[in-house]
Amino acid sequence: MSQDAKKRVTDIGPPHYEKFLPEMVKKNYGKWLYHEILKPGVMVHVAESGDKLFTVRTGNPRLVSIHTIRDMCTLADKYSNGNLRFTSRNNIEFLLTDEANIDPLIADLKAMGFPVGGIGNAISNIVHTQGWVHCHSAATDASGIVKNVMDALCDKFESMSLPGKLRIALACCLNMCGAVHCSDIAILGVHRRPPRINHGILSNICEIPSVVASCPTAAIRPTTVNGKQSVEVNEDQCMFCANCFTVCPAMTLSDPLNDGVSIWVGGKVSNARHEPMFSKLAVPFIPNNPPYWPEVVETVSKLVELWAANAHKYERMGEWIERIGWPRFFELTGIEFQKEHIDDFKHAGLSFKRSAHLRF
Ligand code: SF4
Ligand code: SF4
Repeated sequence: MSQDAKKRVTDIGPPHYEKFLPEMVKKNYGKWLYHEILKPGVMVHVAESGDKLFTVRTGNPRLVSIHTIRDMCTLADKYSNGNLRFTSRNNIEFLLTDEANIDPLIADLKAMGFPVGGIGNAISNIVHTQGWVHCHSAATDASGIVKNVMDALCDKFESMSLPGKLRIALACCLNMCGAVHCSDIAILGVHRRPPRINHGILSNICEIPSVVASCPTAAIRPTTVNGKQSVEVNEDQCMFCANCFTVCPAMTLSDPLNDGVSIWVGGKVSNARHEPMFSKLAVPFIPNNPPYWPEVVETVSKLVELWAANAHKYERMGEWIERIGWPRFFELTGIEFQKEHIDDFKHAGLSFKRSAHLRF
């Protein structure tokens, strides 16, 4: 092996996270005593050494310009020794060592139009996917809906007035890049028709074996149409997932009339009080209605208001529904029970392991 080959540095894998830890976190690693919430969007971690690390959390729209990122970095340089982090729900958290910097930082963030909150019994930032901005298989938009829903619920981000934590997620198709399977309220884009096949070009631009192999339900078979090699879809087997469109642009799935949004409720990841729960279908279909999505905003807001008015302290949406029962949930919300609500994945929700607890 040559000397050059030995020296070769690859970019496989992320750098070790320890490189990015703030000095105070490195110093007190594994030695934190407790944390507490001081006010909306602000908490403190206290270490055995007596060190205190203050966190200020702000919401952001996730798809941000380089200018916004520079603005955030400037604030971090000014108030938190250059330390900030993006949470898994796309909140931005500033990690401060000087308590006196908290209020000036919050004032600067608010002056820039960024809300501060999302900690404790509040809605956190809405985690979401690419939508029409970027992804090829989107059945609905992501950023547009999230902006409108968050505008309606922003006071519940900035305060801690809710009974418990509220997590909302959006995925723009059922591949679910967003964490919609385990959120209190999930907004999920749905296609409702099988792909439309362009037999004229399919064999020119797609590899037929790859197209056949791409279908998770084995609904696609090779065939010949007008003397050209192509594929056919068994429509009864199609679950409108768009995997075939991912590998073959001649199998268009997007459909302005039949694509839209479904709403799911009652998921959670935490092990507190109750083991993790999957979200379950509440509203099977709401048509796409950009740019303000009034039907989605109204439905989500109503679900939040009902839960906030009826849940016990710390009760998550799924725990509340489990306590009152699904029939009562449908009565309270006025959502019509339809055939889509009948779960045909028998016992799946019961047999999947959901708890992080291990028993031997
Ligand atoms: Fe693309 Fe679907 Fe992921 Fe949205 S959820 S980004 S449409 S794969
Ligand atoms: Fe198969 Fe999904 Fe394509 Fe339907 S949309 S044919 S289920 S890959």
